[in-house]
Amino acid sequence: MSAKLIDGKAIASDLHSQLTEEVKVLVADGIRPGLAVVLVGDNPASMSYVTAKERACDKIGIYSRDLRLPGDTSQEKLLELIEELNIDPQINGILVQLPLPDGFDEETVINAISPDKDVDGFHPVSIGRLVLNLDGFIPCTPHGVIKMLEASGAKIEGSDIVIVGRSRIVGAPLANLLFRKAPGGNATVTVCHTRTKNMAEKVRQADIVIAATGRPNTVTADMVKKGATVIDVGVNRIEDASKKRGYRLVGDVDFDAVKEVAGAISPVPGGVGPLTISMLLWNTVASARMAGTKNS
Ligand code: NAP
Repeated sequence: MSAKLIDGKAIASDLHSQLTEEVKVLVADGIRPGLAVVLVGDNPASMSYVTAKERACDKIGIYSRDLRLPGDTSQEKLLELIEELNIDPQINGILVQLPLPDGFDEETVINAISPDKDVDGFHPVSIGRLVLNLDGFIPCTPHGVIKMLEASGAKIEGSDIVIVGRSRIVGAPLANLLFRKAPGGNATVTVCHTRTKNMAEKVRQADIVIAATGRPNTVTADMVKKGATVIDVGVNRIEDASKKRGYRLVGDVDFDAVKEVAGAISPVPGGVGPLTISMLLWNTVASARMAGTKNS
């Protein structure tokens, strides 16, 4: 293996140590950050994400409120709960785990969350602030990718970066973060998607490649410039009879081949995933700090 491994778990662990100290300071000032985690239904992947988020809160001293609702809950009921959480002084962040079951309008639900408690960073106010380069909650996965790049020593400013994927939760906000005139930005960014022509050629120009497609092997070794940094956001389940649970997780990058060409590469699992949780905690602590400042 020639590429350096970008260890998301280790980077997340460092961030958690920092956040633990910050939470101690806030608690000493009488402010305990609080996160409400709302899960509707029993999607197994969502259940495991929610459990991981709550465990991480406990570890660093954030109060977490576990709100699990049956899949047949009405949207009206969910909106009422969000209204209560919006005005609950113990709660600084509200996370509604997506995807919601069929029948819910995710846009309406996200828009109901107070922008002051939008720790996922998906509310139009948060996205608007990001695009306008104003302070606000940054969506967790794109923010995690920036932290990984910074921790790996990759130079973002002035670099040519190709992002494969343009979703509202990963590719699009990440592109904005990377090209904006701000620390962690100032790159030249190309965003590829299913209508992109000559994608391999574009990816080959990149100093940094970020894959977020949800399709295994979207980025292959022949597409990567020697020495490039490669971040794999994808999480895909592949059937694997040799595993007890019947599947294994892979990313969007052909890891085994690309690691022979890249200068640095993030694995799946153990790459971006842990950072996504870290940045949720980060936003919750920031929200508590802001609420404390407003109330003092
Ligand atoms: P998404 O909403 O399905 O968007 C996928 C994007 O990839 C779309 O823009 C699509 O293009 C593009 N795309 C798909 N196949 C492509 C191909 N062959 N060539 C070029 N572009 C292609 O997915 P998402 O929500 O952004 O998630 C992407 C992946 O990241 C998933 O595996 C997801 O599980 C993972 N993820 C991980 C974390 C984490 O914490 N690690 C967090 C969020 C997401 P079009 O727009 O043209 O359709």
